[in-house]
This record gives sequence, structure tokens and C-alpha cells, in this order.
Amino acid sequence: FVSATQMKGTVEKEDETSLQLSELEKQKLSIQEVRRSLPVFPYRSDLLKAIANHQILIIEGETGSGKTTQIPQYLHEEGYTHKGMKIGCTQPRRVAAMSVASRVAQEMAVKLGNEVGYSIRFEDCTSERTVLKYMTDGMLLREFLTEPDLASYSVIIIDEAHERTLHTDVLFGLIKDIARFRPGLKVLVSSATLNTERFSSFFDDAPIFRIPGRRYPVDIYYTKAPEADYLEACVVSVLQIHVTQPTGDILVFLTGQEEIEACCEMLQERCRRLGSKIAEMLILPIYANLPSDMQAKIFDPTPPGARKVVVATNIAETSLTIDGIIYVIDPGFCKQKSYNARTGMESLIVTPCSKASANQRAGRAGRVAAGKCFRLYTAWAYKNEMEDTTVPEIQRTNLGNVVLLLKSLDKLVHADTARANFTVPGGDHMVLLNVYTQWVETGHSLQWCYENFIQARSLRRARDVREQLEGLMARIEIELTSCEGDTVPIRKAITAGYFYHTARLTRSGYKTVKQQQSVFIHPNSSLHEEQPRWVIYHELVFTTKEFMRQVRSAGT
Ligand code: ADP
Ligand code: MG
Repeated sequence: FVSATQMKGTVEKEDETSLQLSELEKQKLSIQEVRRSLPVFPYRSDLLKAIANHQILIIEGETGSGKTTQIPQYLHEEGYTHKGMKIGCTQPRRVAAMSVASRVAQEMAVKLGNEVGYSIRFEDCTSERTVLKYMTDGMLLREFLTEPDLASYSVIIIDEAHERTLHTDVLFGLIKDIARFRPGLKVLVSSATLNTERFSSFFDDAPIFRIPGRRYPVDIYYTKAPEADYLEACVVSVLQIHVTQPTGDILVFLTGQEEIEACCEMLQERCRRLGSKIAEMLILPIYANLPSDMQAKIFDPTPPGARKVVVATNIAETSLTIDGIIYVIDPGFCKQKSYNARTGMESLIVTPCSKASANQRAGRAGRVAAGKCFRLYTAWAYKNEMEDTTVPEIQRTNLGNVVLLLKSLDKLVHADTARANFTVPGGDHMVLLNVYTQWVETGHSLQWCYENFIQARSLRRARDVREQLEGLMARIEIELTSCEGDTVPIRKAITAGYFYHTARLTRSGYKTVKQQQSVFIHPNSSLHEEQPRWVIYHELVFTTKEFMRQVRSAGT
């Protein structure tokens, strides 16, 4: 048996590279080992079977069981991403979407933004190749604007459903709707072990798949009297644990960036004063606006002999799982959006968290071994002052923005004004041409489509058709000339092509020329008010009445 020091000096350059490679190999292997060690892994095939058999499935599992990072990968491995179909997974928090995507990219050994990507407001880290897409629930909601049937997705996972954010709640309604007319779409609603029956009953009694968790016991300690300054109390508790308790990392729950930064500074300052009297302590903040390289640090393994202290918002309650936590410090507060309907003011206020939250927080201490949770409030307060569960956001927020978004989805108010903006004389065909021309002028901008409630997909199809026609014309050598703004030749061409789609205004309304059928100009048409004597229509659709769509006056 040769020790490393004895071998030193005899190792050739070549061996060094092979040594490095084997390190990489080891890392890859260990990632796969970690994947296989997660609680969800033994249920992989049962889960895939359940997904194959049911369109909508509720998945319940303890935080850290592998729901967010593993299930999308299982679906990918199972072929749900064939032909470029995507798997979308929503997260209520931006940090979670980014962090989880980066972890999954690492596990799949791909570059983040390629096969695995994320999309959050103001930052789209995806590409044509992306098949596993993590995103905030708000971003998926926006995708409905451009793709109302979510046709490019084979699976939608509404993750962290128990958080009941406003956007997630609204998504439930929309997804339930599209699932009805897209039988091929799979919908997974994934939640920590809280209230899953309610989700099931909302989705017409969809089955619940429970992933048994592994939980070690957590001892809970309360303070004898209420704490006047919970920030100070946190700092003192961290130091006490650090000095008196065996190894194991500490997780502190605070309400926001300011508090977290203050707490980290206080801890650093006191550690500096204690100097070498105490073991090394790594102090790491985590909150939504923290730069992502700093966020990633909380996942670095703790060096031997040191202790890691993670100071987090309630993002660490269920959205992120940090391994190695043995001690939890819970002051019992969180920041909540609250809306006063009388004054119309929306504000973020620090409020006592719910019992459900407190229990989730405590649970973070028992993931890898028996742990301890220090609650900086009295047992009495827990029993008598805390609500059982958090009131869903939809009941305590200004619904204005979401209502507007929903309205725009119901392709109504906004779309109408947008449509009016495109109106030009000569009827609907000219309006469409106007839309197309403006789109070309914006350089085929997707943003422009969003803003004007226009389906980019339809415009792209129009462009394809145009290119095809241009190609045909080139083949038979017809010269391409512009009508220079004179629409008469275009209108003549439409009339020549669609002369059998003519209707005449009679005393009893419009009648088709061919069959004397009663028809009406669609209320969306630019000619709805004008009612010209003769019209050409592109198609007849029957909704509440027999409507003519894409109409133009044939008399002029
Ligand atoms: P769940 O969604 O069920 O709460 P996750 O899939 O998020 O569980 O986490 C499964 C495991 O992956 C956890 O043990 C966690 O430590 C690990 N993990 C998740 N994200 C990261 C990351 N960014 N870096 C390192 N490990 C991570
Ligand atoms: Mg998760």
C-alpha cells in the first residue's frame, strides 16, 4: 500500500491528467449516486406508470424528496420530450427556478440554457434546444398570451402548489381548461405534504401519488418569554449553537434582504471579535435578489471542522433544499403581501407565519439526521396566536393585474382596442395586410405581437405562405411589383378569388348570393358598423349566429 506522499515525485505529467479525469468521473458518478439516493427514486417506474395512466396527477412528497429536480428528468428519459416537445415546470420563486435549473443541467451534464433552461421575468435563459424549462408561474401565465393551448408542451408541472401564490392559483383554472381539449397534455401538480386533497378535488378527483418521505425526529424548543428583538435573538442563538452543539449546519429564517444582510453583518462582526476562540463559521445569505453565483454558494459542501450558517427568506421553507442542516432557528415571521380594498393600497408587511409554515421550517432540520428547531417565540404564541395555514395570496392581494391579464387572454377589452388601432379603409383583408406590414416593419418582433394581442404564430404562417407564393411566382417568372399603396388591385384580386363568397344587404339583412342564406357581419369586423351593400367574406363561422368573418366591401 503506497501512500500519496510516497508516490509524489514519481507521478508523470500524463498520470496527472488521468488523475484529473478520474476526479471528473468520480464527480459524475457521485451525482448519479445522489440521484439514486433520493426518496423519489424507488418510485420512478410506479410514478411514470401513474403519469401514463392519468392525464392529471397530484404528487405529494416531503421537501427534498426530488420532485422538482428528478421528475422532469424521468419524463425526459421516458420520451416525453420527443420531437422537441417541452416539459414546463413552474416555480413561485425566481431563485428556485434558476437554482433548480442549474442543478438539473449539472446532473444531465449539459450547459444551462441548452437542453435545460429557465425563464423568469427579464431573463430568458432558454434556447431552441430547451426541453426542460423551469419558469416562474408568472412567466407561464404570460406564455398563454402567445400560445393559448401551450401546444409546444407535452407536460406541465405546477410545482410548489401548496404555496398558493396568486399566479399558481390562476394557472390552476387555465390549465384545467386546456387539459379538457388537449387530451395528450399531462398535468402534474406537485406539492409538499400539505392539503393535497384540495388540489385533487379541484381537478375532478385526480389521483394523488404520495412519495413517502424520510424524516428524522426534530426536537422543538420555545423561548420562555417573547423576544423583543428577534434579529438580535437570532444572532445570539446562532453563536450559542456554534459554541455548544455538535457539528451540523444552521438555517435561519428571516423575512427579507435587509434583515438578512443585517444579520449576516452582525454575525461576521461577532465572529471576528471572538477570533480563533471559535471554530470557522461560513455565513451565507439567500434571498431573491442575491446574484446567482452567491446563491449557488449555499449548496457548497461545508469544509470539515467548519459550520455553515444559511440566513434565508422563506424560500428555504420548501423551494430549496440545503443538505446538512441540523439546526433551524425560526423567529416566526414572514413578509406577506397584503391588500386593503378600502384604500386600494398594496403593501408588504411582516406578519407572524402560520403553524404550517413553522412546521415546514422545523422539518428542514430533520432531513439528514435528527435535528433541533429553536423557535424564538413561546409555545403559547404557537398555540394561540398563529393561524393554522397561510391565507392564499389570491385572498389578500390586489387582483387588478391578474384580472387584466385574464381579460387579455379572453383574446376582449384590450384586444378590441388593439384591433381598432389597425383599422384601415377597405375592409378586414386590408386590416390584416396592415397588421402584417407593420409586423414586418418591426423586424418580426415578438414583443410587438404581445403588446398588440396578435398571435405571432399566425403571422409566421402568413410569412411562410408569402414566401411560398413568391417562390412559385419566380418559378413561372412573374415579376414581383408593388401596388405602391393603391389597394384597388389587391381588392380586385380578392374579389376575383372569392366571388362565390358574396353577400348582399337586403331589407332583412345580408343574404349569401349563392344560397340566399341569412348571414351577419362578425362584430369584430371593421365593417360591422358600416354595413356596405355588397360584401365578400373569407369564411362563415357559426357561433351565436351565422357570421361572416374577414369581410370586405365588394361595391368599391
Ligand atoms: P423537492 O422538489 O422534492 O423538494 P428537489 O428536487 O428540489 O426536492 O431536491 C432534491 C435534492 O437535490 C435535494 O437533496 C437537494 O439537496 C438537491 N439539490 C437541489 N438543488 C440543488 C442545487 N442547486 N445544488 C445542489 N444540490 C441541489
Ligand atoms: Mg421542489
